[in-house]
Amino acid sequence: MYSKSEMLFGKAKEVIPGGVNSPVRAFKSVGGNPIFMERAKGAYMYDVDGNRYIDYINSWGPMILGHAYEPVVKAIQEYATYSTSFGAPTELEIKIAELIVSMVPNIDMVRMVNSGTEACMTALRLARGYTGRNKFIKFEGCYHGHADAFLVSAGSGVATLGLQSIPGVTATVADDTLTAPYNNLPAVEQLVAEYAGQIAAIIVEPIAGNMGCILPQPGFLEGLRKVCDEHNIVLIFDEVMTGFRLARGGAQELLGIKADLVTFGKIIGAGMPVGAIAGPREIMENLAPAGKVYQAGTLSGNPIAMIAGYTLLQTLNDNPVIYQQLAEKATYLVNGLKEAFGAAGIVHSINQIGSMLSAHFTEYPIIDFSSASAANNEIFRRFFHAMLERGVYLPPSAFESWFMCNALTTEDLDQTITAAKSAMQAIK
Ligand SMILES: *Cc1c(COP(=O)(O)O)cnc(C)c1O
Repeated sequence: MYSKSEMLFGKAKEVIPGGVNSPVRAFKSVGGNPIFMERAKGAYMYDVDGNRYIDYINSWGPMILGHAYEPVVKAIQEYATYSTSFGAPTELEIKIAELIVSMVPNIDMVRMVNSGTEACMTALRLARGYTGRNKFIKFEGCYHGHADAFLVSAGSGVATLGLQSIPGVTATVADDTLTAPYNNLPAVEQLVAEYAGQIAAIIVEPIAGNMGCILPQPGFLEGLRKVCDEHNIVLIFDEVMTGFRLARGGAQELLGIKADLVTFGKIIGAGMPVGAIAGPREIMENLAPAGKVYQAGTLSGNPIAMIAGYTLLQTLNDNPVIYQQLAEKATYLVNGLKEAFGAAGIVHSINQIGSMLSAHFTEYPIIDFSSASAANNEIFRRFFHAMLERGVYLPPSAFESWFMCNALTTEDLDQTITAAKSAMQAIK
């Protein structure tokens, strides 16, 4: 059933460390070997052995309208003939920046980069340059890309591999990273008091998606906003996952809380390598060449990436009903999953907001990294493989969110629920 994938993984390991170009793809957390994909359309992915899967990763978010979304594919094809890169400015960069500014609350300006990692790394440097302070606070289990400063208590990828500290990240760098448990405001207040006048930024996933999907408890983000205001700390919302997924204006719009800087990735590039930092003019103009905080990128604002992102964002902007439809589909799926797990007598805790969700096998609520870690990973592992055999591709780690796309039909959701029922009976 997976013979060609097995063969390719063997070959891949010879020339690519671990056989993959990003760790979670290797299935380490769930065991077994990764499946090599050939093509995808709408809600389905097809592997090299000809198996079809209903896809609940959607490239970790970008494929919010499904794979190979026709207008995006056409735009890429057209623009590719004009040259794949100029290394000089284009009008398209203004158009996408204007569109983003019109969609996202509280921002005046946008700087394009090539990944979510770059976006977060730049946001932190900018906050440090702007405040003249070095330290920052992040939350256990939140992921902000793989820049050195963020690889402390860094969520899914790192947790999946069971790493405590990362070789290659020096103690000097890690010393400036302060961590608090997610949803724990008193811990933040304590750090801010202890390091008075030294903290440049608090960076947070406003809805956490890298330890499973975890919602902020009432008052948590409001409390961060207040602490930042009182101590002139830059509040950075890492909306690489949530941006353009939960609402046109991301978590800021959905939750009605203002950040000072926002980072984007994933959906913003429609599957092309793109990230962005956005914020008010007063902070953003500290970036070079307007200001002294250096940041650059040979391929930043790449025309193919820009037209892909622009086309997708425009569709989302013009059709906000998409968010309503996605949320309805997610709720339908979650109800079906609860029924499937319940029927098999397996304790579970499902978190969901809009089109993001995660299922943990525990009777306790999942509110932070320790509660997520305490859930039964062995059941998840068996559930994952049982679903895969039934043609449903879930994230290969309990610490990752599932992402839904609007190409999913009720039949797809029913098929998924039926698969979950049969999977649960098979593994219980
Ligand atoms: C994916 C992700 C990143 C990193 O983005 P890359 O494009 O993989 O570098 C950063 N922050 C969050 C919240 C993410 O989900």
